[in-house]
Amino acid sequence: MLEKFSSPFDATVIKTLEDAGAVIGGKTNLDEFGMGSYSTHSRFGPVKSSFFVRGKERQGEGEPLSAGGSSGGSAVAVATNQCYAALGTDTGGSVRLPAAYTGVVGLKPSYGLISRWGVVAYANSLDTVGIIARRTSTVREVFDVLNHHDARDPTSLSTFTRSRIAQALLQPQLSSRLSSRPLRIGVPLEYNLAELTPTVRETWLSTLKTLEGQGHSLHPISLPSTKHALSAYYILAPAEASSNLAKYDGVRYGTRADGLDKTGDENGDSSDYLYARTRGEGFGDEVRRRILLGSFSLSADAMDNYFLQAQRVRRLVQADFDNAFALNNPLGDESQSQAPPSTTKVDIIIGPTTSSLPPTLSSITEDENSASNTAPLHSYVTDACTVPASLAGLPAISVPVSVVPSSSTGSDESRHEGFGKIGIQIIGQYGDDELVLRVAELLE
Ligand code: GLN
Repeated sequence: MLEKFSSPFDATVIKTLEDAGAVIGGKTNLDEFGMGSYSTHSRFGPVKSSFFVRGKERQGEGEPLSAGGSSGGSAVAVATNQCYAALGTDTGGSVRLPAAYTGVVGLKPSYGLISRWGVVAYANSLDTVGIIARRTSTVREVFDVLNHHDARDPTSLSTFTRSRIAQALLQPQLSSRLSSRPLRIGVPLEYNLAELTPTVRETWLSTLKTLEGQGHSLHPISLPSTKHALSAYYILAPAEASSNLAKYDGVRYGTRADGLDKTGDENGDSSDYLYARTRGEGFGDEVRRRILLGSFSLSADAMDNYFLQAQRVRRLVQADFDNAFALNNPLGDESQSQAPPSTTKVDIIIGPTTSSLPPTLSSITEDENSASNTAPLHSYVTDACTVPASLAGLPAISVPVSVVPSSSTGSDESRHEGFGKIGIQIIGQYGDDELVLRVAELLE
Protein backbone atom coordinates (compact mmCIF):
# COMPACT_ATOMS: atom_id res chain seq x y z
CA MET A 1 0.00 0.00 0.00
CA LEU A 2 2.88 2.37 0.76
CA GLU A 3 5.36 0.87 -1.70
CA LYS A 4 5.91 4.13 -3.58
CA PHE A 5 5.06 6.48 -0.74
CA SER A 6 7.74 8.68 0.69
CA SER A 7 6.73 10.69 3.75
CA PRO A 8 6.96 14.48 3.34
CA PHE A 9 8.05 14.87 6.98
CA ASP A 10 10.19 13.07 9.55
CA ALA A 11 8.86 11.33 12.64
CA THR A 12 9.77 12.95 15.97
CA VAL A 13 12.11 10.04 16.76
CA ILE A 14 14.09 10.64 13.56
CA LYS A 15 14.27 14.41 14.06
CA THR A 16 15.31 13.97 17.72
CA LEU A 17 18.08 11.52 16.84
CA GLU A 18 19.37 13.79 14.07
CA ASP A 19 19.35 16.77 16.43
CA ALA A 20 21.46 14.68 18.82
CA GLY A 21 24.01 14.09 16.05
CA ALA A 22 22.85 10.73 14.70
CA VAL A 23 23.12 9.91 11.00
CA ILE A 24 20.08 8.09 9.68
CA GLY A 25 21.43 5.30 7.49
CA GLY A 26 18.22 4.12 5.88
CA LYS A 27 14.96 2.26 6.25
CA THR A 28 14.94 -1.47 6.86
CA ASN A 29 12.72 -4.27 5.63
CA LEU A 30 9.91 -5.55 7.87
CA ASP A 31 6.54 -7.28 7.89
CA GLU A 32 3.91 -5.15 6.19
CA PHE A 33 2.49 -2.70 8.78
CA GLY A 34 4.41 -4.60 11.48
CA MET A 35 2.11 -7.62 11.21
CA GLY A 36 4.07 -10.82 11.60
CA SER A 37 6.67 -12.59 13.69
CA TYR A 38 9.18 -13.66 11.04
CA SER A 39 9.57 -10.74 8.59
CA THR A 40 8.22 -12.91 5.79
CA HIS A 41 5.14 -10.76 5.04
CA SER A 42 6.99 -8.03 3.19
CA ARG A 43 6.28 -6.60 -0.24
CA PHE A 44 10.06 -6.63 -0.74
CA GLY A 45 10.58 -10.31 0.10
CA PRO A 46 11.55 -11.93 3.40
CA VAL A 47 14.34 -10.66 5.64
CA LYS A 48 17.19 -13.17 5.79
CA SER A 49 19.13 -13.61 8.98
CA SER A 50 22.92 -13.70 8.69
CA PHE A 51 22.78 -16.87 10.77
CA PHE A 52 22.51 -20.28 9.19
CA VAL A 53 21.86 -23.71 10.59
CA ARG A 54 24.59 -26.31 10.91
CA GLY A 55 26.99 -23.90 12.53
CA LYS A 56 27.61 -21.87 9.41
CA GLU A 57 27.30 -18.14 9.77
CA ARG A 58 28.48 -16.95 6.38
CA GLN A 59 26.18 -15.86 3.61
CA GLY A 60 25.64 -18.46 0.94
CA GLU A 61 26.10 -21.54 3.10
CA GLY A 62 23.58 -23.61 4.93
CA GLU A 63 19.93 -22.72 5.40
CA PRO A 64 19.20 -19.15 6.54
CA LEU A 65 17.33 -18.81 9.82
CA SER A 66 14.46 -16.44 10.39
CA ALA A 67 15.50 -13.02 11.68
CA GLY A 68 12.22 -12.79 13.59
CA GLY A 69 9.70 -10.06 13.03
CA SER A 70 8.34 -7.69 12.43
CA SER A 71 11.49 -5.56 12.78
CA GLY A 72 13.73 -8.27 11.26
CA GLY A 73 15.56 -5.84 8.95
CA SER A 74 16.51 -3.58 11.86
CA ALA A 75 17.81 -6.55 13.86
CA VAL A 76 19.90 -7.90 10.97
CA ALA A 77 21.33 -4.42 10.25
CA VAL A 78 22.49 -4.27 13.88
CA ALA A 79 23.63 -7.90 14.13
CA THR A 80 25.76 -7.54 10.99
CA ASN A 81 27.31 -4.29 12.19
CA GLN A 82 25.80 -2.18 9.43
CA CYS A 83 24.69 0.41 11.96
CA TYR A 84 25.22 1.48 15.54
CA ALA A 85 21.60 1.01 16.56
CA ALA A 86 18.21 0.65 14.89
CA LEU A 87 14.60 1.49 15.68
CA GLY A 88 11.54 -0.68 15.23
CA THR A 89 8.04 -0.72 16.60
CA ASP A 90 7.05 -3.23 19.24
CA THR A 91 3.29 -3.76 19.40
CA GLY A 92 3.35 -7.35 20.64
CA GLY A 93 7.02 -8.30 20.51
CA SER A 94 8.38 -7.02 17.20
CA VAL A 95 11.57 -5.58 18.66
CA ARG A 96 12.21 -8.23 21.33
CA LEU A 97 11.64 -11.25 19.07
CA PRO A 98 13.98 -10.21 16.21
CA ALA A 99 16.59 -9.23 18.81
CA ALA A 100 16.29 -12.72 20.32
CA TYR A 101 16.52 -14.43 16.93
CA THR A 102 19.63 -12.48 15.85
CA GLY A 103 21.55 -12.41 19.14
CA VAL A 104 21.26 -8.68 19.91
CA VAL A 105 19.54 -6.50 22.54
CA GLY A 106 15.99 -5.19 21.94
CA LEU A 107 14.11 -2.82 24.28
CA LYS A 108 10.38 -2.13 24.32
CA PRO A 109 10.06 0.89 26.65
CA SER A 110 7.03 1.63 28.82
CA TYR A 111 4.07 2.65 26.65
CA GLY A 112 3.96 6.40 26.08
CA LEU A 113 7.59 7.26 26.83
CA ILE A 114 8.83 7.57 23.25
CA SER A 115 6.89 9.66 20.74
CA ARG A 116 4.87 7.83 18.08
CA TRP A 117 4.30 10.97 16.03
CA GLY A 118 5.09 10.17 12.39
CA VAL A 119 5.25 6.43 13.05
CA VAL A 120 2.85 4.38 10.90
CA ALA A 121 0.24 3.06 13.34
CA TYR A 122 -0.60 -0.63 13.73
CA ALA A 123 -2.53 -0.77 17.04
CA ASN A 124 -2.34 2.58 18.83
CA SER A 125 -2.99 1.36 22.35
CA LEU A 126 -0.09 -1.12 22.09
CA ASP A 127 2.42 0.51 19.71
CA THR A 128 5.78 1.54 21.13
CA VAL A 129 8.98 2.59 19.42
CA GLY A 130 11.73 0.19 20.47
CA ILE A 131 15.51 0.19 20.17
CA ILE A 132 17.86 -2.53 18.93
CA ALA A 133 21.64 -2.52 19.48
CA ARG A 134 24.49 -4.92 20.15
CA ARG A 135 25.04 -3.66 23.71
CA THR A 136 22.60 -2.56 26.39
CA SER A 137 24.68 0.58 26.95
CA THR A 138 23.97 1.62 23.34
CA VAL A 139 20.25 0.92 23.77
CA ARG A 140 20.30 3.11 26.88
CA GLU A 141 22.11 5.90 25.05
CA VAL A 142 19.49 6.00 22.27
CA PHE A 143 16.65 5.61 24.79
CA ASP A 144 17.90 8.60 26.80
CA VAL A 145 17.85 10.75 23.67
CA LEU A 146 14.29 9.71 22.75
CA ASN A 147 12.67 9.55 26.19
CA HIS A 148 10.88 12.93 26.20
CA HIS A 149 7.37 14.31 26.05
CA ASP A 150 6.12 15.19 22.56
CA ALA A 151 3.08 17.43 22.40
CA ARG A 152 2.28 16.12 18.93
CA ASP A 153 1.63 12.58 20.19
CA PRO A 154 -1.54 12.57 22.31
CA THR A 155 -0.44 9.37 24.08
CA SER A 156 3.01 10.73 24.94
CA LEU A 157 3.38 10.83 28.72
CA SER A 158 3.18 14.39 30.03
CA THR A 159 6.12 16.07 31.73
CA PHE A 160 4.06 16.15 34.94
CA THR A 161 3.45 12.37 34.92
CA ARG A 162 7.10 11.76 34.08
CA SER A 163 8.27 13.71 37.11
CA ARG A 164 5.67 11.96 39.30
CA ILE A 165 7.09 8.58 38.20
CA ALA A 166 10.66 9.78 38.78
CA GLN A 167 9.64 10.88 42.30
CA ALA A 168 8.04 7.49 43.02
CA LEU A 169 11.25 5.74 41.95
CA LEU A 170 13.29 7.91 44.30
CA GLN A 171 11.75 6.35 47.41
CA PRO A 172 14.66 5.06 49.48
CA GLN A 173 13.45 1.45 49.47
CA LEU A 174 13.35 1.50 45.66
CA SER A 175 16.34 3.58 44.71
CA SER A 176 18.70 1.29 46.63
CA ARG A 177 17.69 -1.68 44.48
CA LEU A 178 20.77 -3.23 42.91
CA SER A 179 23.25 -0.89 44.55
CA SER A 180 22.84 -1.74 48.23
CA ARG A 181 20.09 -4.35 48.24
CA PRO A 182 19.83 -7.57 46.25
CA LEU A 183 17.04 -7.77 43.70
CA ARG A 184 13.95 -9.88 44.18
CA ILE A 185 13.54 -11.67 40.86
CA GLY A 186 10.14 -13.05 39.90
CA VAL A 187 10.08 -16.30 37.93
CA PRO A 188 6.68 -16.50 36.21
CA LEU A 189 5.45 -20.09 36.35
CA GLU A 190 3.12 -19.57 33.40
CA TYR A 191 6.08 -18.77 31.12
CA ASN A 192 7.30 -22.32 31.55
CA LEU A 193 5.20 -23.29 28.52
CA ALA A 194 4.98 -26.85 27.28
CA GLU A 195 6.29 -25.49 23.95
CA LEU A 196 9.61 -24.30 25.48
CA THR A 197 12.43 -26.25 23.91
CA PRO A 198 14.88 -27.80 26.40
CA THR A 199 17.66 -25.42 25.31
CA VAL A 200 15.52 -22.36 26.05
CA ARG A 201 14.34 -23.74 29.40
CA GLU A 202 17.87 -24.65 30.47
CA THR A 203 19.33 -21.31 29.39
CA TRP A 204 16.58 -19.51 31.31
CA LEU A 205 17.35 -21.58 34.42
CA SER A 206 21.09 -21.02 34.16
CA THR A 207 20.48 -17.25 33.80
CA LEU A 208 18.45 -17.31 37.00
CA LYS A 209 21.19 -19.28 38.76
CA THR A 210 23.81 -16.79 37.61
CA LEU A 211 21.79 -13.95 39.13
CA GLU A 212 21.24 -15.94 42.31
CA GLY A 213 25.00 -16.48 42.43
CA GLN A 214 25.39 -12.68 42.31
CA GLY A 215 23.34 -12.46 45.52
CA HIS A 216 19.85 -11.79 44.11
CA SER A 217 16.88 -13.86 45.27
CA LEU A 218 14.51 -15.91 43.10
CA HIS A 219 10.75 -16.05 43.72
CA PRO A 220 8.25 -18.16 41.78
CA ILE A 221 5.29 -15.96 40.89
CA SER A 222 1.98 -16.62 39.20
CA LEU A 223 0.58 -14.48 36.39
CA PRO A 224 -2.56 -16.58 35.80
CA SER A 225 -4.06 -14.47 33.01
CA THR A 226 -0.99 -15.10 30.83
CA LYS A 227 -2.73 -18.07 29.22
CA HIS A 228 -5.42 -15.78 27.81
CA ALA A 229 -3.09 -12.93 26.85
CA LEU A 230 -2.24 -14.21 23.38
CA SER A 231 -5.91 -14.62 22.37
CA ALA A 232 -6.74 -11.19 23.77
CA TYR A 233 -3.84 -9.61 21.89
CA TYR A 234 -4.91 -11.20 18.59
CA ILE A 235 -8.40 -9.73 19.04
CA LEU A 236 -7.34 -6.25 20.16
CA ALA A 237 -4.44 -5.65 17.78
CA PRO A 238 -6.35 -6.59 14.59
CA ALA A 239 -9.40 -4.61 15.82
CA GLU A 240 -7.33 -1.45 16.17
CA ALA A 241 -5.51 -2.22 12.93
CA SER A 242 -8.75 -2.59 10.97
CA SER A 243 -9.74 0.89 12.07
CA ASN A 244 -6.27 2.40 11.47
CA LEU A 245 -5.92 0.96 8.00
CA ALA A 246 -9.27 2.35 6.85
CA LYS A 247 -7.46 5.49 5.76
CA TYR A 248 -5.66 3.59 3.01
CA ASP A 249 -8.56 3.82 0.61
CA GLY A 250 -6.89 4.93 -2.59
CA VAL A 251 -8.13 8.51 -2.19
CA ARG A 252 -5.83 10.25 0.26
CA TYR A 253 -2.40 8.72 -0.25
CA GLY A 254 -0.66 5.45 -0.99
CA THR A 255 -1.59 3.01 -3.72
CA ARG A 256 -4.71 3.44 -5.87
CA ALA A 257 -5.98 0.56 -7.98
CA ASP A 258 -5.10 1.09 -11.65
CA GLY A 259 -7.54 2.70 -14.03
CA LEU A 260 -9.69 4.38 -11.37
CA ASP A 261 -10.03 8.04 -10.55
CA LYS A 262 -10.57 9.45 -7.05
CA THR A 263 -14.28 8.78 -7.03
CA GLY A 264 -14.05 5.34 -8.56
CA ASP A 265 -16.83 6.52 -10.87
CA GLU A 266 -14.93 6.39 -14.12
CA ASN A 267 -16.76 3.28 -15.26
CA GLY A 268 -19.93 4.05 -13.45
CA ASP A 269 -18.64 2.18 -10.38
CA SER A 270 -19.14 3.41 -6.86
CA SER A 271 -16.44 4.64 -4.50
CA ASP A 272 -16.91 1.37 -2.59
CA TYR A 273 -15.51 -0.31 -5.66
CA LEU A 274 -12.46 1.97 -5.55
CA TYR A 275 -11.84 1.16 -1.87
CA ALA A 276 -12.35 -2.56 -2.31
CA ARG A 277 -10.10 -2.89 -5.34
CA THR A 278 -7.41 -0.65 -3.85
CA ARG A 279 -7.34 -2.63 -0.61
CA GLY A 280 -7.51 -5.96 -2.39
CA GLU A 281 -4.51 -5.03 -4.53
CA GLY A 282 -2.58 -2.87 -2.07
CA PHE A 283 -2.51 -5.04 1.06
CA GLY A 284 -0.76 -8.39 1.42
CA ASP A 285 -2.46 -11.57 2.67
CA GLU A 286 -1.59 -11.17 6.36
CA VAL A 287 -2.81 -7.55 6.48
CA ARG A 288 -6.06 -8.49 4.77
CA ARG A 289 -6.49 -11.35 7.25
CA ARG A 290 -6.06 -8.93 10.17
CA ILE A 291 -8.52 -6.43 8.68
CA LEU A 292 -11.11 -9.18 8.32
CA LEU A 293 -10.47 -10.45 11.86
CA GLY A 294 -10.65 -6.93 13.28
CA SER A 295 -13.79 -5.92 11.39
CA PHE A 296 -15.45 -9.13 12.55
CA SER A 297 -14.60 -8.71 16.24
CA LEU A 298 -15.82 -5.10 16.14
CA SER A 299 -19.09 -5.96 14.41
CA ALA A 300 -22.26 -5.54 16.45
CA ASP A 301 -22.92 -9.26 16.85
CA ALA A 302 -19.39 -10.21 17.89
CA MET A 303 -18.38 -7.16 19.92
CA ASP A 304 -19.40 -8.52 23.35
CA ASN A 305 -17.90 -11.96 22.89
CA TYR A 306 -14.62 -10.86 21.40
CA PHE A 307 -13.56 -7.23 21.69
CA LEU A 308 -15.03 -6.45 25.11
CA GLN A 309 -13.96 -9.81 26.49
CA ALA A 310 -10.40 -9.22 25.25
CA GLN A 311 -10.37 -5.83 26.94
CA ARG A 312 -11.35 -7.51 30.23
CA VAL A 313 -8.50 -10.00 29.81
CA ARG A 314 -6.15 -7.09 29.19
CA ARG A 315 -7.13 -5.56 32.56
CA LEU A 316 -6.52 -8.91 34.28
CA VAL A 317 -3.08 -9.23 32.70
CA GLN A 318 -2.25 -5.74 33.96
CA ALA A 319 -3.57 -6.57 37.43
CA ASP A 320 -1.47 -9.76 37.59
CA PHE A 321 1.69 -7.75 36.99
CA ASP A 322 0.66 -5.09 39.54
CA ASN A 323 0.06 -7.86 42.06
CA ALA A 324 3.57 -9.21 41.50
CA PHE A 325 5.62 -6.01 41.56
CA ALA A 326 6.78 -4.31 44.77
CA LEU A 327 6.56 -0.95 43.03
CA ASN A 328 2.96 0.27 42.71
CA ASN A 329 1.88 1.03 39.19
CA PRO A 330 2.48 4.78 38.99
CA LEU A 331 -0.53 5.11 36.71
CA GLY A 332 -2.61 3.78 39.62
CA ASP A 333 -4.68 1.05 38.03
CA GLU A 334 -7.18 -0.36 40.52
CA SER A 335 -8.11 -3.61 38.75
CA GLN A 336 -8.21 -6.84 40.69
CA SER A 337 -5.87 -9.67 39.85
CA GLN A 338 -7.13 -13.25 39.69
CA ALA A 339 -3.90 -14.30 41.40
CA PRO A 340 -3.79 -14.75 45.18
CA PRO A 341 -2.17 -11.65 46.74
CA SER A 342 1.47 -12.34 46.17
CA THR A 343 3.43 -12.87 49.36
CA THR A 344 6.81 -11.81 48.06
CA LYS A 345 6.64 -8.77 45.86
CA VAL A 346 9.35 -8.66 43.23
CA ASP A 347 11.46 -5.94 41.61
CA ILE A 348 11.76 -7.53 38.20
CA ILE A 349 10.45 -10.52 36.24
CA ILE A 350 12.66 -12.75 34.10
CA GLY A 351 11.45 -15.24 31.49
CA PRO A 352 12.29 -16.37 27.98
CA THR A 353 11.62 -14.00 25.05
CA THR A 354 10.26 -16.83 22.95
CA SER A 355 9.89 -20.57 23.21
CA SER A 356 12.46 -21.81 20.72
CA LEU A 357 15.51 -21.08 18.62
CA PRO A 358 14.88 -19.32 15.28
CA PRO A 359 13.27 -21.60 12.70
CA THR A 360 14.67 -21.80 9.17
CA LEU A 361 13.14 -19.41 6.67
CA SER A 362 12.28 -22.32 4.39
CA SER A 363 10.27 -24.08 7.13
CA ILE A 364 8.24 -20.89 7.63
CA THR A 365 7.52 -20.30 3.98
CA GLU A 366 6.62 -23.96 3.48
CA ASP A 367 4.18 -23.68 6.35
CA GLU A 368 2.73 -20.40 5.06
CA ASN A 369 2.27 -21.82 1.59
CA SER A 370 0.70 -25.02 2.83
CA ALA A 371 -3.00 -25.46 2.29
CA SER A 372 -3.56 -25.64 6.06
CA ASN A 373 -5.63 -22.74 7.27
CA THR A 374 -4.09 -22.95 10.73
CA ALA A 375 -0.63 -21.94 9.41
CA PRO A 376 -1.02 -18.26 10.48
CA LEU A 377 -1.62 -19.44 14.04
CA HIS A 378 1.86 -20.98 14.21
CA SER A 379 3.46 -17.57 13.95
CA TYR A 380 0.99 -16.08 16.45
CA VAL A 381 2.08 -18.61 19.09
CA THR A 382 5.67 -17.32 18.83
CA ASP A 383 4.47 -14.18 20.65
CA ALA A 384 3.11 -15.94 23.76
CA CYS A 385 5.86 -14.60 26.06
CA THR A 386 6.08 -11.09 24.60
CA VAL A 387 2.42 -9.99 24.38
CA PRO A 388 1.65 -9.88 28.14
CA ALA A 389 4.07 -6.96 28.73
CA SER A 390 2.62 -5.24 25.65
CA LEU A 391 -0.96 -5.55 26.91
CA ALA A 392 0.15 -4.09 30.25
CA GLY A 393 2.31 -1.36 28.65
CA LEU A 394 5.36 -2.47 30.65
CA PRO A 395 9.05 -2.04 29.80
CA ALA A 396 10.67 -5.27 28.60
CA ILE A 397 14.02 -6.06 27.06
CA SER A 398 15.42 -9.12 25.31
CA VAL A 399 19.10 -9.79 25.98
CA PRO A 400 21.17 -12.48 24.26
CA VAL A 401 22.48 -15.11 26.66
CA SER A 402 24.87 -17.88 25.56
CA VAL A 403 23.11 -21.18 25.01
CA VAL A 404 23.47 -23.81 27.64
CA PRO A 405 23.77 -27.02 25.62
CA SER A 406 20.68 -29.10 26.25
CA SER A 407 21.21 -32.47 27.92
CA SER A 408 18.37 -33.90 25.84
CA THR A 409 19.65 -33.20 22.34
CA GLY A 410 16.71 -32.37 20.12
CA SER A 411 17.84 -32.86 16.54
CA ASP A 412 16.65 -29.42 15.42
CA GLU A 413 18.49 -27.71 18.23
CA SER A 414 21.82 -29.37 17.65
CA ARG A 415 21.77 -27.90 14.13
CA HIS A 416 21.74 -24.40 15.63
CA GLU A 417 25.12 -24.55 17.27
CA GLY A 418 26.45 -21.66 15.15
CA PHE A 419 23.76 -19.38 16.51
CA GLY A 420 24.54 -19.84 20.15
CA LYS A 421 22.30 -17.21 21.81
CA ILE A 422 18.91 -17.32 23.49
CA GLY A 423 16.81 -14.22 24.13
CA ILE A 424 16.08 -13.75 27.83
CA GLN A 425 13.34 -11.28 28.63
CA ILE A 426 13.40 -8.88 31.57
CA ILE A 427 10.10 -7.19 32.44
CA GLY A 428 9.73 -4.29 34.87
CA GLN A 429 6.86 -2.32 36.43
CA TYR A 430 5.48 0.58 34.39
CA GLY A 431 8.05 3.41 34.31
CA ASP A 432 10.85 1.23 35.72
CA ASP A 433 12.74 1.17 32.41
CA GLU A 434 16.02 2.09 34.10
CA LEU A 435 15.95 -1.02 36.30
CA VAL A 436 15.15 -3.19 33.26
CA LEU A 437 18.25 -1.79 31.52
CA ARG A 438 20.41 -2.28 34.60
CA VAL A 439 19.39 -5.93 34.96
CA ALA A 440 20.09 -6.45 31.25
CA GLU A 441 23.60 -5.17 31.90
CA LEU A 442 24.05 -7.79 34.63
CA LEU A 443 23.53 -10.49 32.02
CA GLU A 444 26.04 -9.19 29.46
N1 GLN B 1 3.79 -10.67 15.86
C1 GLN B 1 2.87 -9.72 16.42
C2 GLN B 1 1.84 -9.35 15.40
O1 GLN B 1 1.92 -9.77 14.30
C3 GLN B 1 3.60 -8.52 16.93
C4 GLN B 1 3.94 -7.52 15.88
C5 GLN B 1 4.52 -6.25 16.39
O2 GLN B 1 4.93 -6.13 17.55
N2 GLN B 1 4.54 -5.26 15.50
O3 GLN B 1 0.92 -8.67 15.68
